[in-house]
Amino acid sequence: MDFLNRSHGIFCNRTLNLNAIRAIGYDMDYTLVHYRMQAWEERAYAYIRERLALRWPVNHLVFDPDLVMRGLVIDTQLGNVVKANRFGYIKRAFHGTTPLDFEAFHRLYQRTLVDLSEDRWYFLNTLFSISEACIFMQLVEMVDRGELAGCMSYEELMEHVRRSVDETHMEGRLKAEILADPGQFVVPDENTPLALLDQKRAGKRILLITNSEWSYAAPILAHAFDPYLPKSCRWRDLFDIVIVRARKPDFFTYPMPAFDVVEDGDLLREHHGPMRSGHIYVGGNAQLLEASLGLKGEEIMYVGDHIFTDVNISKKISRWRTALIIRELEDEILAVENCKEEHAELERLMAQKERLESEHCSLRLAMQRIQKRYGPRDGNKPKELQKKISDLHAHLAELDARIGPLAQGAAVLLNPHWGLLMRTGMDKSHLARQIESYADIYTARVSNFLPVTPFAFLRSSRGSLPHDPGCA
Ligand code: IMP
Ligand code: MG
Repeated sequence: MDFLNRSHGIFCNRTLNLNAIRAIGYDMDYTLVHYRMQAWEERAYAYIRERLALRWPVNHLVFDPDLVMRGLVIDTQLGNVVKANRFGYIKRAFHGTTPLDFEAFHRLYQRTLVDLSEDRWYFLNTLFSISEACIFMQLVEMVDRGELAGCMSYEELMEHVRRSVDETHMEGRLKAEILADPGQFVVPDENTPLALLDQKRAGKRILLITNSEWSYAAPILAHAFDPYLPKSCRWRDLFDIVIVRARKPDFFTYPMPAFDVVEDGDLLREHHGPMRSGHIYVGGNAQLLEASLGLKGEEIMYVGDHIFTDVNISKKISRWRTALIIRELEDEILAVENCKEEHAELERLMAQKERLESEHCSLRLAMQRIQKRYGPRDGNKPKELQKKISDLHAHLAELDARIGPLAQGAAVLLNPHWGLLMRTGMDKSHLARQIESYADIYTARVSNFLPVTPFAFLRSSRGSLPHDPGCA
């Protein structure tokens, strides 16, 4: 696949026959509707800071969108942000806004594994997490300097930040600001409504399941979809059932009641019986929805951007098929594409290094057998062996000097502090592991379904193992 096709590709972890999918549920924010993250999060940050300023002197803090990225983990015990590999081993860490030095890193994390089921770790699941993590890191430094009166621990700090974030999202001002000028925040994508229309006309039930409230979802979808739909069609016509304030992840785990929304959105009436086509609901739950549609879990696909609520839980609890929208993938693929020559050079040098290291080991063993008088000899004299060993040392040092800058360059691709989203060094990142565990497919945007068609059979690749030919 060439670069352009890759950045618009749909990537498959588990084979998925779209033709057999009878209903597709869509999340809204950062899924059907993509925001200019920097603009949205800058406003969210301002409201979070305003709330925290009621308690602490934080007005001087400034949003820095590069300080963090999705897939990192907050260590709420030690006040750090860490990046872990697929096994949970921590490979990079910041305390406050500064990287941990080598000694502190080893002391704190040599024996620690990130386990997301423990309360200690807070995973950055979505682009909505960027403002939250940024201000947390900045406040850690203020805690250390004793500038946050009454804040005794990083856990306590995290609780304050979390509460301010929740309140910011729930109170009306931030959303009102977005709605006042949606063009400033929403990234248009004219192909998304058409992709949904194709799916609907192909006979699939199209559902909206968003945590946003009706008063926000309705105008945002009208802004993002209506200009690109056929004249006779509005965004509402695309969806069989609309569920707002779904309260995911609870939507998938608890039998929460559903309420009917009367079209202007102000009136709620508890709903009994199956959810009906053409209706709008607040709440409800996945079991009720499945029963209402008369479908089994594997006939429903849910498409969302939140790794835990949209993909992990819907897969684990409801066994729905899952698609993760991860917009940063476009920049990630571009970043890797732009340095593919350096990458090829790095791989070549690493292969050379491995060969030399193996030679070095054999020479050391030969020397050991001579010195300790045992085992077969290879005919080399100790002096010759010593000379070969020191030549190899010099060669390895020269290789390291060339590898160092290339590896450092690779470590700052995409994000200057954290590198690539899906990689931790040469290994897969913890985020990549989450994605491969829970997302059947992943892609950068919903409109990538358009060229794929609603009928495609998406096959996963064979998957390589370390002992496969060409892998060792
Ligand atoms: P969805 O992605 O369409 O399900 O909608 C996400 C909704 O959750 C949006 O209305 C966000 O404002 C809101 N939201 C995102 N992050 C948080 C949070 O940390 N606390 C509370 N609400 C949030
Ligand atoms: Mg979302």
